[in-house]
Amino acid sequence: MTTLPSPYPDLRRQLDGVRGLLLDMDGVLVLRNALIPGAAEALAALDAAAIPYVLATNTSLVSRATLSLELSRAGLSIPADRIVSAASAAAGYSRRHFADQAIYVLVAPDAKAEFEDLRLLTHESAADPGARAAAVVIGDAGDEFTPRNVQTAFTLLRSGARFVAMHKNRWWITPAGVMLDSGGYVAALEFATQRRALVTGKPSRTFFGEGVRRLGQMLDRKGSGARLAPGEVAMVGDDLWNDIRGAQKAGLRGAFVRSGKHGDAELARVVSERGGRAPDSVADSIMEVVAALAG
Ligand SMILES: [Mg+2]
Repeated sequence: MTTLPSPYPDLRRQLDGVRGLLLDMDGVLVLRNALIPGAAEALAALDAAAIPYVLATNTSLVSRATLSLELSRAGLSIPADRIVSAASAAAGYSRRHFADQAIYVLVAPDAKAEFEDLRLLTHESAADPGARAAAVVIGDAGDEFTPRNVQTAFTLLRSGARFVAMHKNRWWITPAGVMLDSGGYVAALEFATQRRALVTGKPSRTFFGEGVRRLGQMLDRKGSGARLAPGEVAMVGDDLWNDIRGAQKAGLRGAFVRSGKHGDAELARVVSERGGRAPDSVADSIMEVVAALAG
Protein backbone atom coordinates (compact mmCIF):
# COMPACT_ATOMS: atom_id res chain seq x y z
CA MET A 1 0.00 0.00 0.00
CA THR A 2 1.42 3.35 -1.04
CA THR A 3 1.09 6.30 1.28
CA LEU A 4 1.19 9.66 -0.42
CA PRO A 5 1.21 13.04 1.32
CA SER A 6 -2.05 15.03 1.12
CA PRO A 7 -1.86 17.14 -2.04
CA TYR A 8 -1.32 20.85 -1.60
CA PRO A 9 -4.29 22.64 -3.24
CA ASP A 10 -1.93 25.04 -5.09
CA LEU A 11 0.08 22.22 -6.60
CA ARG A 12 -3.05 20.42 -7.72
CA ARG A 13 -4.25 23.59 -9.48
CA GLN A 14 -0.82 24.27 -11.05
CA LEU A 15 -0.69 20.77 -12.48
CA ASP A 16 -4.32 20.71 -13.61
CA GLY A 17 -4.64 19.12 -17.07
CA VAL A 18 -1.31 17.27 -16.93
CA ARG A 19 -1.74 13.78 -18.47
CA GLY A 20 1.85 12.56 -18.57
CA LEU A 21 5.20 13.17 -16.87
CA LEU A 22 8.80 13.36 -17.96
CA LEU A 23 10.98 12.58 -14.94
CA ASP A 24 14.57 13.68 -14.58
CA MET A 25 16.74 11.05 -12.92
CA ASP A 26 19.48 12.70 -10.82
CA GLY A 27 18.01 14.88 -8.10
CA VAL A 28 14.48 13.60 -8.69
CA LEU A 29 14.63 9.81 -8.33
CA VAL A 30 18.23 9.25 -7.23
CA LEU A 31 20.88 11.37 -5.54
CA ARG A 32 24.56 10.37 -5.48
CA ASN A 33 23.63 6.83 -6.58
CA ALA A 34 21.10 6.38 -3.74
CA LEU A 35 17.34 6.30 -4.15
CA ILE A 36 15.52 9.46 -3.02
CA PRO A 37 13.08 8.43 -0.25
CA GLY A 38 9.61 7.89 -1.70
CA ALA A 39 10.74 7.67 -5.34
CA ALA A 40 9.73 4.03 -5.77
CA GLU A 41 6.37 4.67 -4.06
CA ALA A 42 5.76 7.69 -6.30
CA LEU A 43 6.30 5.59 -9.45
CA ALA A 44 4.00 2.87 -8.08
CA ALA A 45 1.30 5.49 -7.46
CA LEU A 46 1.62 6.77 -11.04
CA ASP A 47 1.27 3.21 -12.33
CA ALA A 48 -1.78 2.64 -10.14
CA ALA A 49 -3.39 5.87 -11.43
CA ALA A 50 -2.49 4.94 -15.07
CA ILE A 51 -0.57 8.20 -15.51
CA PRO A 52 2.22 7.50 -18.02
CA TYR A 53 5.75 8.62 -17.22
CA VAL A 54 9.05 8.48 -19.04
CA LEU A 55 12.50 8.92 -17.53
CA ALA A 56 14.14 11.88 -19.29
CA THR A 57 17.88 12.08 -18.67
CA ASN A 58 20.92 13.65 -20.34
CA THR A 59 22.96 10.49 -19.75
CA SER A 60 24.84 9.62 -22.92
CA LEU A 61 27.61 7.35 -21.65
CA VAL A 62 25.49 4.20 -21.48
CA SER A 63 22.51 2.75 -23.36
CA ARG A 64 19.00 2.76 -21.93
CA ALA A 65 19.26 -1.02 -21.40
CA THR A 66 22.29 -0.53 -19.15
CA LEU A 67 20.65 2.41 -17.37
CA SER A 68 17.53 0.32 -16.73
CA LEU A 69 19.72 -2.43 -15.24
CA GLU A 70 21.56 0.05 -13.00
CA LEU A 71 18.23 1.51 -11.81
CA SER A 72 16.82 -1.92 -11.02
CA ARG A 73 19.88 -2.59 -8.84
CA ALA A 74 19.08 0.67 -7.01
CA GLY A 75 15.47 -0.48 -6.52
CA LEU A 76 13.58 1.19 -9.38
CA SER A 77 11.95 -0.86 -12.10
CA ILE A 78 11.99 1.28 -15.27
CA PRO A 79 12.14 -0.66 -18.55
CA ALA A 80 14.46 0.68 -21.25
CA ASP A 81 11.54 1.69 -23.48
CA ARG A 82 10.37 4.08 -20.77
CA ILE A 83 13.61 6.03 -20.89
CA VAL A 84 14.56 8.88 -23.20
CA SER A 85 18.24 9.77 -22.93
CA ALA A 86 20.44 12.26 -24.76
CA ALA A 87 21.84 9.21 -26.61
CA SER A 88 18.46 7.71 -27.52
CA ALA A 89 17.18 11.13 -28.63
CA ALA A 90 20.24 11.45 -30.92
CA ALA A 91 19.53 7.96 -32.29
CA GLY A 92 15.86 8.85 -32.81
CA TYR A 93 16.82 12.03 -34.63
CA SER A 94 19.32 10.11 -36.79
CA ARG A 95 16.68 7.47 -37.62
CA ARG A 96 14.28 10.16 -38.83
CA HIS A 97 16.84 12.14 -40.84
CA PHE A 98 19.63 9.77 -41.92
CA ALA A 99 17.90 6.35 -42.02
CA ASP A 100 19.80 4.80 -44.95
CA GLN A 101 22.87 7.01 -44.92
CA ALA A 102 26.25 6.42 -43.34
CA ILE A 103 26.86 8.36 -40.12
CA TYR A 104 29.85 8.68 -37.81
CA VAL A 105 28.92 8.29 -34.13
CA LEU A 106 31.63 9.19 -31.62
CA VAL A 107 30.29 7.87 -28.31
CA ALA A 108 31.24 5.29 -25.67
CA PRO A 109 30.70 1.67 -26.86
CA ASP A 110 27.78 0.93 -24.52
CA ALA A 111 25.75 3.94 -25.70
CA LYS A 112 26.44 2.98 -29.33
CA ALA A 113 23.90 0.15 -28.88
CA GLU A 114 21.19 2.82 -29.34
CA PHE A 115 22.32 3.20 -32.96
CA GLU A 116 22.62 -0.47 -33.91
CA ASP A 117 19.92 -0.36 -36.60
CA LEU A 118 21.63 2.57 -38.35
CA ARG A 119 24.49 2.58 -40.86
CA LEU A 120 27.50 3.45 -38.73
CA LEU A 121 30.98 4.09 -40.06
CA THR A 122 33.75 2.44 -38.05
CA HIS A 123 36.61 4.69 -36.87
CA GLU A 124 38.75 3.13 -39.61
CA SER A 125 36.31 3.54 -42.51
CA ALA A 126 35.42 7.07 -41.37
CA ALA A 127 39.12 7.99 -41.44
CA ASP A 128 39.49 6.81 -45.07
CA PRO A 129 40.46 9.65 -47.39
CA GLY A 130 37.31 10.38 -49.37
CA ALA A 131 34.98 9.00 -46.68
CA ARG A 132 31.63 10.82 -46.45
CA ALA A 133 29.03 10.84 -43.69
CA ALA A 134 25.51 12.31 -43.62
CA ALA A 135 26.13 13.28 -39.99
CA VAL A 136 28.69 13.33 -37.22
CA VAL A 137 27.10 12.57 -33.83
CA ILE A 138 29.08 13.34 -30.66
CA GLY A 139 28.31 12.08 -27.14
CA ASP A 140 30.25 11.06 -24.03
CA ALA A 141 32.97 9.10 -25.81
CA GLY A 142 35.42 8.72 -22.91
CA ASP A 143 38.58 7.04 -24.16
CA GLU A 144 37.28 7.13 -27.77
CA PHE A 145 38.03 10.86 -27.84
CA THR A 146 41.43 10.21 -29.40
CA PRO A 147 43.15 12.94 -31.45
CA ARG A 148 42.65 10.72 -34.52
CA ASN A 149 38.89 10.29 -33.99
CA VAL A 150 38.36 13.98 -33.28
CA GLN A 151 40.30 14.77 -36.47
CA THR A 152 38.05 12.29 -38.35
CA ALA A 153 34.96 14.09 -37.04
CA PHE A 154 36.43 17.43 -38.10
CA THR A 155 37.26 16.18 -41.62
CA LEU A 156 33.76 14.72 -42.13
CA LEU A 157 32.14 17.93 -40.88
CA ARG A 158 34.28 19.91 -43.34
CA SER A 159 33.02 17.63 -46.11
CA GLY A 160 29.42 18.60 -45.34
CA ALA A 161 28.25 16.17 -42.64
CA ARG A 162 25.47 17.46 -40.36
CA PHE A 163 26.70 18.22 -36.84
CA VAL A 164 24.74 16.59 -33.98
CA ALA A 165 25.73 16.72 -30.28
CA MET A 166 23.99 14.77 -27.52
CA HIS A 167 24.60 17.67 -25.12
CA LYS A 168 27.18 20.32 -24.30
CA ASN A 169 27.79 19.54 -20.64
CA ARG A 170 31.09 21.00 -19.42
CA TRP A 171 31.93 18.48 -16.70
CA TRP A 172 30.39 15.82 -14.53
CA ILE A 173 30.98 14.15 -11.20
CA THR A 174 32.10 10.53 -11.12
CA PRO A 175 33.41 8.38 -8.25
CA ALA A 176 36.88 9.23 -9.62
CA GLY A 177 36.23 12.97 -9.31
CA VAL A 178 35.14 15.81 -11.61
CA MET A 179 35.67 14.76 -15.22
CA LEU A 180 35.82 16.71 -18.46
CA ASP A 181 32.57 16.09 -20.35
CA SER A 182 31.96 16.04 -24.11
CA GLY A 183 30.87 19.70 -24.28
CA GLY A 184 34.50 20.78 -24.59
CA TYR A 185 35.02 18.55 -27.63
CA VAL A 186 31.81 19.81 -29.22
CA ALA A 187 32.93 23.40 -28.55
CA ALA A 188 36.35 22.67 -30.10
CA LEU A 189 34.72 21.30 -33.27
CA GLU A 190 32.26 24.22 -33.37
CA PHE A 191 35.18 26.63 -33.07
CA ALA A 192 37.22 24.92 -35.78
CA THR A 193 34.35 24.45 -38.25
CA GLN A 194 32.59 27.73 -37.38
CA ARG A 195 29.34 25.79 -37.23
CA ARG A 196 26.86 25.15 -34.43
CA ALA A 197 25.94 21.61 -33.44
CA LEU A 198 22.30 20.59 -33.16
CA VAL A 199 21.85 19.42 -29.55
CA THR A 200 19.49 16.46 -28.99
CA GLY A 201 19.65 16.28 -25.15
CA LYS A 202 18.21 18.68 -22.59
CA PRO A 203 17.48 21.60 -22.86
CA SER A 204 16.78 21.20 -26.58
CA ARG A 205 13.33 21.17 -28.13
CA THR A 206 14.31 17.93 -29.95
CA PHE A 207 14.73 16.18 -26.59
CA PHE A 208 11.41 17.24 -25.10
CA GLY A 209 9.67 16.46 -28.41
CA GLU A 210 11.06 12.91 -28.21
CA GLY A 211 9.74 12.57 -24.64
CA VAL A 212 6.25 13.84 -25.51
CA ARG A 213 6.14 11.49 -28.53
CA ARG A 214 7.03 8.52 -26.32
CA LEU A 215 4.35 9.43 -23.75
CA GLY A 216 1.81 9.79 -26.56
CA GLN A 217 2.62 6.26 -27.76
CA MET A 218 2.06 4.94 -24.24
CA LEU A 219 -1.34 6.66 -23.94
CA ASP A 220 -2.29 5.44 -27.40
CA ARG A 221 -1.63 1.84 -26.39
CA LYS A 222 -4.28 2.33 -23.74
CA GLY A 223 -6.70 3.26 -26.52
CA SER A 224 -7.26 6.87 -25.50
CA GLY A 225 -6.76 7.89 -29.13
CA ALA A 226 -6.21 11.63 -28.81
CA ARG A 227 -2.71 12.94 -29.41
CA LEU A 228 -0.84 14.30 -26.41
CA ALA A 229 -0.13 18.03 -26.54
CA PRO A 230 3.15 19.34 -25.02
CA GLY A 231 1.11 21.48 -22.60
CA GLU A 232 -0.39 18.29 -21.15
CA VAL A 233 3.06 17.08 -20.13
CA ALA A 234 5.04 18.25 -17.10
CA MET A 235 8.82 17.89 -16.90
CA VAL A 236 9.73 17.14 -13.28
CA GLY A 237 13.30 18.25 -12.66
CA ASP A 238 15.81 19.68 -10.20
CA ASP A 239 17.68 21.80 -12.77
CA LEU A 240 15.95 25.13 -13.34
CA TRP A 241 17.63 25.71 -16.69
CA ASN A 242 18.15 22.33 -18.40
CA ASP A 243 14.90 20.77 -17.12
CA ILE A 244 12.48 23.57 -16.31
CA ARG A 245 13.26 26.41 -18.68
CA GLY A 246 14.05 23.99 -21.52
CA ALA A 247 10.69 22.26 -21.06
CA GLN A 248 8.80 25.56 -20.85
CA LYS A 249 10.43 26.78 -24.07
CA ALA A 250 9.27 23.58 -25.79
CA GLY A 251 5.69 24.22 -24.59
CA LEU A 252 5.67 21.76 -21.68
CA ARG A 253 5.01 22.58 -18.01
CA GLY A 254 8.05 22.90 -15.80
CA ALA A 255 7.57 21.19 -12.42
CA PHE A 256 10.55 22.08 -10.24
CA VAL A 257 11.48 19.90 -7.26
CA ARG A 258 13.83 20.96 -4.46
CA SER A 259 15.22 17.48 -3.84
CA GLY A 260 18.32 17.97 -6.03
CA LYS A 261 20.88 20.57 -6.99
CA HIS A 262 18.90 23.82 -7.13
CA GLY A 263 17.16 25.72 -4.32
CA ASP A 264 15.88 29.18 -3.41
CA ALA A 265 18.97 31.08 -4.64
CA GLU A 266 18.70 29.62 -8.15
CA LEU A 267 14.92 30.03 -8.08
CA ALA A 268 15.34 33.77 -7.45
CA ARG A 269 17.94 33.97 -10.22
CA VAL A 270 15.92 32.17 -12.88
CA VAL A 271 12.95 34.49 -12.28
CA SER A 272 14.98 37.72 -12.33
CA GLU A 273 17.00 36.87 -15.46
CA ARG A 274 16.17 38.52 -18.75
CA GLY A 275 13.28 36.55 -20.23
CA GLY A 276 13.12 34.67 -16.92
CA ARG A 277 10.06 32.81 -15.87
CA ALA A 278 9.02 30.99 -12.72
CA PRO A 279 8.51 27.24 -12.86
CA ASP A 280 4.87 26.27 -13.37
CA SER A 281 4.99 24.49 -10.03
CA VAL A 282 7.40 24.12 -7.12
CA ALA A 283 7.39 21.10 -4.79
CA ASP A 284 9.75 19.54 -2.24
CA SER A 285 9.98 16.23 -4.08
CA ILE A 286 8.49 13.88 -6.64
CA MET A 287 6.16 12.58 -3.90
CA GLU A 288 4.24 15.86 -3.68
CA VAL A 289 3.96 16.13 -7.47
CA VAL A 290 2.55 12.64 -7.73
CA ALA A 291 0.19 13.21 -4.79
CA ALA A 292 -1.21 16.29 -6.56
CA LEU A 293 -1.83 14.29 -9.73
CA ALA A 294 -2.80 10.88 -8.44
CA GLY A 295 -3.88 11.54 -4.84
MG1 LIG B 1 18.83 16.41 -12.39
